[in-house]
Amino acid sequence: MKICIVNRQLFITMTQSQKHNFGAGPCILPQPVLERAAEAVRAWDRAGLSILEISHRSAEFESVVHETERLVRELLSVPDGYSILFLQGGASMQFCMVPMNFLQGSKQTAAYLDGGYFGAKAIKEAQFFGKVNVLASSKDSGYTFIPEAYVIPEDAAYFHYTSNNTIEGTQLWADVTSSVPVVCDMSSDIFSREINVSQFSLIYAGAQKNTGPAGLTIVIAKNEFLDSVKHAIPSMLDYRVFRDNGSMYNTPPVFAIYAAMLNLQWLKGKGGVKSIAKENVRKAQLLYDEIDRNPLFKGSAARGQRSLMNVTFRMNDQAEEADFLAYAAKCGMVGIKGYRTVGGFRASLYNALPYESVQALVQCMTAYAEKVVPQHNFQPTY
Ligand SMILES: *Cc1c(COP(=O)(O)O)cnc(C)c1O
Repeated sequence: MKICIVNRQLFITMTQSQKHNFGAGPCILPQPVLERAAEAVRAWDRAGLSILEISHRSAEFESVVHETERLVRELLSVPDGYSILFLQGGASMQFCMVPMNFLQGSKQTAAYLDGGYFGAKAIKEAQFFGKVNVLASSKDSGYTFIPEAYVIPEDAAYFHYTSNNTIEGTQLWADVTSSVPVVCDMSSDIFSREINVSQFSLIYAGAQKNTGPAGLTIVIAKNEFLDSVKHAIPSMLDYRVFRDNGSMYNTPPVFAIYAAMLNLQWLKGKGGVKSIAKENVRKAQLLYDEIDRNPLFKGSAARGQRSLMNVTFRMNDQAEEADFLAYAAKCGMVGIKGYRTVGGFRASLYNALPYESVQALVQCMTAYAEKVVPQHNFQPTY
C-alpha cells in the first residue's frame, strides 16, 4: 500500500474543514496534540527513536511521567497527601479495583449511587467483594436524572458515585461531600471544570474522554485512604504497589501517557480548567438553547442536571430520527447517534471540541427544521 504525503495532508485538511467529531470516547483531541504525537511516533528522543520503541525506564520517558503527574496536580490543584497513578484497564477496571481494595475484608458496607449505566456497572462489580448498599436509584426512570435525596450512612466504607453520566447526559455540577470517604468516577468530566480534590478520597477516570487516548486510566488517591487497606491484594490490582513504584510496577501505557501529557499541556496553554470550564458552558448553552427552541427536538436529561459534556436529545417524532441522522452526517456531523440503551442523539462537547462545531450542529438542526416545517421560519440562536 502506498500513501503519498500530499494526499494525507489533503485528507487532514478535508476532515478538519468538514467533520465535526462529537464522539463520546475515544473522542476529539486538539489538532496540535495529534500533530505532535504523530511526530513523536516517527522520531522522539535524542537518538531519533520513536516514542513507541523507547524504554519506559529511560530518563526521557521518566521525565514524561513526572511532567504528566505535575500537570494533573497543577490543573486540578491537587493538595498534598494525594498520589497520582497511571493505570490501565480503563474506568471499568476501577469498578472492581475500588471494592477489592476498600471493601474486601472490611466489615463495613460500601454505599453506591445508582444514577446511570456506568454507576450500575460499578455496583455489579462491588458486589463480588462485599456488601453494597444502593442508596438511591433512577434506573426505573431510565436514568434521566441523578437521585439527590439520600443519606450516606456514617459507617459506610466509602461512597461511590459518577459525576457525569456519559450515556444519559446528566451531571452533578457540585461535588458530593461527606465525612465518609468519597470515591468518584469522573471519566467524562475530569479536566472540564474546577473540582475540590480535598473532598475526595479517590477519583478515577479513563483517559479517552477528556484526558488523552484510550489505554490510560488516571487515579488521584488520598494516601491516608490507600494506607487504610489492611488485606493482601494481587500486585496489579493494589493501588499502593503503583504508588510505591511511581506507576512503573510494570510497563505503563507509554504512548497514552505521552499523548495525555501533550493534551494537558494544551489545556494549560488554554488557561487551564477554570477557563475551559467557561468555554464548556458556552458550548453547551448554545446547543441546549437550540434543543429547547427547535420544535422538532427535546432534551433527554432532567433540567438542572443537564451535562455540559454529553448533550442527549431526541426528536418529538422518533420516526424522524434516522432521517435527521442521515442529514446530519451529510452536514459533517460524526458520532451523534445516542447510545443504544438511550436512543436518539448524543453530542459530546469535550474540551477539544471547537465552539464552531457546536455552531455547525445547531445550524444543521435549524436547517433540518426549516426543511421539514418551513412555515416556522426559525431564527438561529447564535
Ligand atoms: C467511558 C466511561 C467508563 C468506561 O470506561 P472504560 O475506559 O471503557 O472502561 C466508565 N465510567 C464513565 C463515567 C465513562 O464515561
